[in-house]
Amino acid sequence: MEERTGPVLAVFAHPDDAEISSGGTLAKWVAAGRQVHLLVLTNGDRGSSDPSLHRAELARIRAEETKDAAGVLGLASARVLETSDGELENTPKVRDEVVRTIRRIRPQTVLSCDPTAWFFDNRYYNHSDHRTAGVVALDSVFPGAGNPHYFAEHLAEGLEAWDVHDIWLGWTNELNHHEDVTGYLDVKLAALARHRSQVEGDGIRFFEEWLPREAEEAGKKIGVQHAEEFRVLDLS
Ligand SMILES: [Zn+2]
Repeated sequence: MEERTGPVLAVFAHPDDAEISSGGTLAKWVAAGRQVHLLVLTNGDRGSSDPSLHRAELARIRAEETKDAAGVLGLASARVLETSDGELENTPKVRDEVVRTIRRIRPQTVLSCDPTAWFFDNRYYNHSDHRTAGVVALDSVFPGAGNPHYFAEHLAEGLEAWDVHDIWLGWTNELNHHEDVTGYLDVKLAALARHRSQVEGDGIRFFEEWLPREAEEAGKKIGVQHAEEFRVLDLS
């Protein structure tokens, strides 16, 4: 696949998903001059084990954290939709938002997570919002953004149908690509640390141990220090 240089849209379920799964790759693309945009499909309002925390307050906090983290990564934009955490469904209303964003940003690349990944190593299984976000992203690219008869009202607003060239899916069991992210682990962890509500106490230390170890394991497969793993589809 030829090297892409155009805009990127990352579509994820929760405010910190992009950083955890693909923060190194997003930072690398920003450094290469690509415009990288983030669309978060839920507000993350159940991302706490503290029963006294009000969900609306948590959603407000997480929206701010998302903006802070996007600043660290150098994203061109970051938007969080209002759907509650745990309630994401693949509906026309959600796809309308994603298709509209694709037609506005006109990304060469859409990055999300693999909706077919249910189980990981017989140790844990994937959050339903993650699986759904992957399906929403795929369905919004095809058959969605590229076909003027889907959400045709967008055309009346001045937007046009848009064909995405490639799709990158993280958190996958069907990986076919290792992206060298050597030199970008620090910014990935720095961005993740901005999601303060999620990494309080020892939380960030957990990620500081786990994410570099995971990136080193992936890096070994292509002979680099750090890599992130994806299932990449070339649609062009
Ligand atoms: Zn998540």
